[in-house]
Amino acid sequence: MNKFINVILPLPLEKEFTYSVTDIEAESLQPGMRVAVPFGKSKIYTGIVTAIHEKAPVIYQAKPIDQVLDSFPIVTENQLKFWKWIADYYMCTTGEVLKSALPGAFLLESETFIRLKNIPEDTDILLDDEFLILEALQQQSTLSIAEIINILNKKHILPTIQRLVSKNVVEILQEVNEQFKPKVIRYVRIHPSFSNEKLAHQLLDSLEKAPKQREVLLSFFSLSSRTKKPIKISELKKASGCSAAIIRSLASKEILEEFVLETDRLNTETLQKEEASVLNDEQEKALFDIRKNFREKPVCLLHGVTSSGKTEIYVHLIEEALEKGEQVLFLLPEIALTAQLIERLKRFFGNKVLVYHSRYNVQERVEIYKHILQHDEKGKIILGARSSIFLPFKNLGFVIVDEEHEVSYKQFEPAPRYNARDAAIVLGKLHNAKVLLGSATPSIESFHNAFSGKYSLVTLQKRHGNVLLPQVEIVDIKEKYRKKQMNGHFSDRLLEEIRTTLSQGEQVILFQNRRGYSPILECNQCGHTPQCPNCDVSLTYHSYSNKLRCHYCGYAKAKPINCLACGSVDISTKGFGTEQIEDELKTLFPENVIGRMDFDTTRGKFGYEKIISAFEQMEIDILVGTQMLTKGLDFRNVRLVGIMSADTLLNFPDFRAHERSFQLMLQVAGRAGRTKKRGLVLIQTYNPYHNIVQQVSTNDYPGMFKEQMEERRQYRYPPFFRMIKFVLKHRDFGKVDEASKWLAKSLRNSYGENILGPETPPISRIRNQYHINILMKIDQRQSLVRTKQNVSRILVTFNAISAYRSVKIVTNVDPY
Ligand code: ADP
Ligand code: ZN
Ligand code: ZN
Repeated sequence: MNKFINVILPLPLEKEFTYSVTDIEAESLQPGMRVAVPFGKSKIYTGIVTAIHEKAPVIYQAKPIDQVLDSFPIVTENQLKFWKWIADYYMCTTGEVLKSALPGAFLLESETFIRLKNIPEDTDILLDDEFLILEALQQQSTLSIAEIINILNKKHILPTIQRLVSKNVVEILQEVNEQFKPKVIRYVRIHPSFSNEKLAHQLLDSLEKAPKQREVLLSFFSLSSRTKKPIKISELKKASGCSAAIIRSLASKEILEEFVLETDRLNTETLQKEEASVLNDEQEKALFDIRKNFREKPVCLLHGVTSSGKTEIYVHLIEEALEKGEQVLFLLPEIALTAQLIERLKRFFGNKVLVYHSRYNVQERVEIYKHILQHDEKGKIILGARSSIFLPFKNLGFVIVDEEHEVSYKQFEPAPRYNARDAAIVLGKLHNAKVLLGSATPSIESFHNAFSGKYSLVTLQKRHGNVLLPQVEIVDIKEKYRKKQMNGHFSDRLLEEIRTTLSQGEQVILFQNRRGYSPILECNQCGHTPQCPNCDVSLTYHSYSNKLRCHYCGYAKAKPINCLACGSVDISTKGFGTEQIEDELKTLFPENVIGRMDFDTTRGKFGYEKIISAFEQMEIDILVGTQMLTKGLDFRNVRLVGIMSADTLLNFPDFRAHERSFQLMLQVAGRAGRTKKRGLVLIQTYNPYHNIVQQVSTNDYPGMFKEQMEERRQYRYPPFFRMIKFVLKHRDFGKVDEASKWLAKSLRNSYGENILGPETPPISRIRNQYHINILMKIDQRQSLVRTKQNVSRILVTFNAISAYRSVKIVTNVDPY
């Protein structure tokens, strides 16, 4: 009997591919192992075996595989099931999931390039083939796998490459050029030549004439007498009250020495071990309830105000899972992979904590993957961003999704366009693991699931240590403009509080979101923004047609000459961004250091970490930023948070604008006054009586939830309706226009009024491609599985029309 295997290839193919294997190969193969296989004319790919069987493919002649690459499965059975679920649910191929799920180094193919990393001292450790490759790499800086096949004049070379990688001789070139750099912390120690105490005293004497340097040195000795931990430069600055320049001059005299440690890799020996804190009564009760709820329902939502100690509760639950020998997955939204949290967890759990990040380099990702696959000591607690749901868990017992409301859990590009929070719940189910969702501002969906009894709900209402939630004050800027009490975008109230805060040596955060590429019309007198009558979202302004349009349903009307609410002709599309605020601040506060954190300033390597750490170390007085500021950061010295314009948030053309505004404002407010002293939040707005603004000021989550649910029901949005968004792209507008009309019509045949569009988005041409959107709403009563199958059939028909074949369709399930 001939033997065959099914293989998932890292390509967007609808089906798995079948290859033939010899009896000996079949004997050694198991699902989850890798094989090198030929595909197309002369390409080689690495694929994953999913089944071994005796059924020859009907349509084509099965080719033999090139080689078996593993001696044991590197992909577990649960992973294969999980991939299948992701592919079905998010309407993509398992090949696309595979490509996202495994570190690139596992998936060598003919187009992979390698380059020389290290020439080994002793080349005897290299086998003949390996040596030939080393030689070739000294002639030519990079080689593709295809070229190496030529050089060695044989086909089966992937294991050779793998060995060279593990011997650290070559490295695989990555497509990702911007590598993640962990945050570094700067420390000082006494220069080695002065380690002995007597010398230290002489030193102090020698500094008689440099009192500030002497002061720094004294502070250093006093700090180091109290702790064995390395001393941070920021601590020394604070303790001595001296500037960085003084410390630097001591370093240049070789009295002190600076050194850095990366927080991700912090050698845990240098961290002082800590026991989990004793929980306060409210936390104790929450922990008890979570445990109890887990016995009945596997998913629990922990709704705790900012700084209530959610992390402390996580620590206790992690400990319990570890005692049972289980693995723990701790998910964080990408940007919030904060050094703060990593350090905190490492203090408790030492080397058991592994940090996983998709921007780590190939080799590091492979290493971490292996630790988890082997479930060794190091693979116990995995702390990572969304892609860590794809790791090869063996005995996953507990999953935490921290800041579960965060948008960055959703992957937009490329497929699979999954939401890691939702996928984590499925992952938990596959492993029989408990899942805890944590947030101070839960998403409407999760709260709805808790409210309706699908998840259990546990609430923490107080900040730890009875620190009060910040006081929130609303500033009516319509009034302020009228009374001429505005200076640029700053009200007199805000300026007054900034001055007070700075004079007390405390810090200020100013929040201005302009993620808006969509221009919105706004009345400068009353702040009114025109809304779509069908969708209840703000209309966006399209300058070429001088019209206002709804980017969901396509409703359009001419741009009005005066404001529909107050009649004023003073309406404009201008919004303002962080940069403008920064400029105004520089004029208003020339003495102070202003920092800006947004997409532009954090783009470079280290960008984000640098700004955070400068702010933490008090080198910045006022930090202006976008929603990046809201991500769970724990600053100790911020008294004042100013929200420059609540209206820019509220008017964003998205059905989630109100939910998001509430979350963003409460989260950014949560950065104020995290220590003993109560913080202050000022919200500037044209609409002081807007329900969301009021709900933020009273921290009224239930009120917000109730009202938003009403709107969602009325306008047919999630959680009442599910959505699928189709984006059609092509260079030729006529073509994409025609294709989208065809698709919308076909979908409408089955789903009628639940199909919206085709609609041109506000930015209709990106990289020379015209975009057209179609949005589908799926009634809760409709079967999701059957609907998707039907949609897939329509898409297959679409692709079969030769005129449309070159039109690319991006299918996005749960797009917002
Ligand atoms: P959250 O995650 O809810 O924002 P954290 O867990 O970060 O809150 O707690 C906020 C601060 O309060 C942290 O500095 C934390 O160490 C401290 N804290 C919270 N609970 C306790 C406790 N039971 N004992 C000591 N410190 C605590
Ligand atoms: Zn509309
Ligand atoms: Zn108006």
